[in-house]
Amino acid sequence: MANTIKSVGIIGAGQMGTGIAQVCAQSGISVVLHDLSADRLVAGLATINGNLAKLVAKEALSEAQRQSTLALISTGTEYTDLSDCDLVIEAATESEEVKRKIFIALCKALPAKTMVASNTSSISITRLASATDRPDRFIGIHFMNPVPKMQLVELIRGIATEDPTFEAAKAFIAHLGKTITVSEDFPAFIVNRILLPMINEAIYTLYEGVGSVDAIDTAMRLGANHPMGPLQLADFIGLDTCLSVMQVLHEGLADSKYRPCPLLVKYVEAGWLGRKTGRGFYDYRGEVPVPTR
Ligand code: NAD
Repeated sequence: MANTIKSVGIIGAGQMGTGIAQVCAQSGISVVLHDLSADRLVAGLATINGNLAKLVAKEALSEAQRQSTLALISTGTEYTDLSDCDLVIEAATESEEVKRKIFIALCKALPAKTMVASNTSSISITRLASATDRPDRFIGIHFMNPVPKMQLVELIRGIATEDPTFEAAKAFIAHLGKTITVSEDFPAFIVNRILLPMINEAIYTLYEGVGSVDAIDTAMRLGANHPMGPLQLADFIGLDTCLSVMQVLHEGLADSKYRPCPLLVKYVEAGWLGRKTGRGFYDYRGEVPVPTR
């Protein structure tokens, strides 16, 4: 099937929203990036500009391509800014309450034909779809971080997602040059069902004093050949997102093996959310990251 998605709205100009905006624009799709905060929109555009400039420096992109890519991205703080889009992808904070409120308000501003998707890492697509007026045209499109570099996209159908929605999402992802895996709608889908319990276990390993931050990350990098240590990866994902995913697994599967580590809870309560706030299991405020334990 040919791609029918020519314009995409993105809600949330955080690390995922900006990454999705960049790959869409690089594939010739026009983008409207939306956030509550105008500052986040400015910062998001600066990140995209910086990423594209690096590609130009590496001669992976021409200066003309950089400019035409940027010209495809506009920003807005109103849902009505998204009303001409073929698809709106929600990539706001990982909270069911936040997402439900967005979908209720968003749908009022969209024509009936517009498809809506969520980039949630863990929350039930069927439940999120129920907050919209179009569960048949709603789907989970789960990009990986960092979006421009990661090849995989998980597609998740809710109970009511209809075939044309699924096929249009598949064609859209293929147009972006990415590879799809299809997951059933269970807590945290495939990648995070496996990845986040490993990260949570690494935090328990730290909490119980089995090893230091450096020992745990070195062990998994050199001993299991992981490109990043699990604590470094947790900081990269965002500790608030890690905690939300563990809570969804714990509540959704009712198994104590998914209990979020109290140390993860403490870091989030301190506002030490990882790279995005400058501090997590590492302190990023100096020249090189320094372990915080
Ligand atoms: P982030 O904290 O970097 O960005 C979230 C953005 O959402 C912020 O800019 C915030 O201002 C905005 N926002 C919050 N409430 C809003 C609202 N009501 N309306 C508009 N904007 C709002 O988070 P992120 O890492 O980009 O994650 C976003 C989503 O992507 C989450 O659902 C997360 O689970 C998912 N995700 C994250 C990763 C990851 O590795 N971080 C990977 C895949 C999917």
